[in-house]
Amino acid sequence: MGPIEHPQSALLQRSTTKQYPEAVSGDGVYIIQEDGTRILDGCSGAAISCLGHSEQVVIDAIVEQARKLSFVHGSFFTNRPAEELAQHFISLSDGAFSKAVFLSSGSEAIETAIKLARHYHLCKQQPKRTKYIARYGSYHGNTIGALSASFNPVRREPFEPILSPVFRHASACHYSRDGLPGEREDDYVDQLALEMEQLFIEEGPSTVAAVIVEPVVGATLGAVPAAKGYLRRLRQLCDRYGSLLIFDEVMCGLGRVGTTHAWQSLGGVQPDLQTIGKGLAAGYQPISGVLISPTVADQLEQSSKANAFRTIDKRDLLGNVRRVGELLEAQLRSRVPCVGEVRGMGLFLGVELAGPMASRVTDACLERGAAVYLCSPVVNAIILAPPFILTPEEAHDLVEMIREAVLAVSSNDN
Ligand code: PLP
Repeated sequence: MGPIEHPQSALLQRSTTKQYPEAVSGDGVYIIQEDGTRILDGCSGAAISCLGHSEQVVIDAIVEQARKLSFVHGSFFTNRPAEELAQHFISLSDGAFSKAVFLSSGSEAIETAIKLARHYHLCKQQPKRTKYIARYGSYHGNTIGALSASFNPVRREPFEPILSPVFRHASACHYSRDGLPGEREDDYVDQLALEMEQLFIEEGPSTVAAVIVEPVVGATLGAVPAAKGYLRRLRQLCDRYGSLLIFDEVMCGLGRVGTTHAWQSLGGVQPDLQTIGKGLAAGYQPISGVLISPTVADQLEQSSKANAFRTIDKRDLLGNVRRVGELLEAQLRSRVPCVGEVRGMGLFLGVELAGPMASRVTDACLERGAAVYLCSPVVNAIILAPPFILTPEEAHDLVEMIREAVLAVSSNDN
């Protein structure tokens, strides 16, 4: 096609000879190409288009709002839709949050959470809290702060010399991959908690501003939920050492696993700050946010006196996420050959393939009419994160296309 460069290829200086098909329109869970070919969007881009494509209710709301008022600067005005959106999330969060900030991208939300944590400690007269503990096998975005927090080796490598040294990395929490043979899940979690505590102690606990984790790790590891009890242990450590706990739910949150927030499906452990994005406007507008706990909000307010889409609730889409997610998971296990682990929650599933075939399977899926998301080369896995409107029949079609793609790739290998 024309002069558009794929952003990751440009940044990673990869060859861009690959021809991308041209997408011209959308219809529910389908993306339609110029020649009319319909592609089942099995990953919602990268877990973004959760309401599917060309959803009239959303389009009408955008048009109506743009007619009334398209933009006001947040330093001078507030506006009702933004206030209502913030209130909406606060009311769905079991008391975890009392304020929200809205931004444009997931990376920007992470940058903001990093800065809010710093600001909080400054307000508490703790200027020495300048370090952040994130984890290996994570992805938090492409801007310099977010990439410094991330540990996706391929995306970091070219920029390593300019990344921020204030980010430390602890082990990923991936029990099914890293648990020792016969090791119990709670013993595995004990080890990780011990390692995290040692890191706090080595760095000096009073220098740690925040711990940043994805409750279900997306792009780098492929839909890996935190082991049972792990998030609670992080919460306890942060409380013990006066550090904030930041959950990055840009990819796994806002209904993707069947509850509003992923942590609500993972033992109910609440963060101090939480980033949201992607599904927030389902790809119809660039919008992200940071949800702020009452503790942090009150501190910021005291010290400085600083300063919709509702479609999901109305249609029981989260119920659909849970029901069709279970079906999809079961069918992937029973019908697709060469599959290792199928993991994840709701409509956020990681499919580990037996042998190095994930990249070829992704291409073979597209040839058969299904878009699936290729994880980082750290794992040999694809992610399925289809729109929340996926029907059981469409789930069946998606599995069938993946099955055929895997069969074709593995028969080429033999
Ligand atoms: N955080 C997580 C967990 C992500 O998966 C991503 C993007 O994939 C980001 C942050 C960055 O979001 P954006 O691409 O909107 O900047």
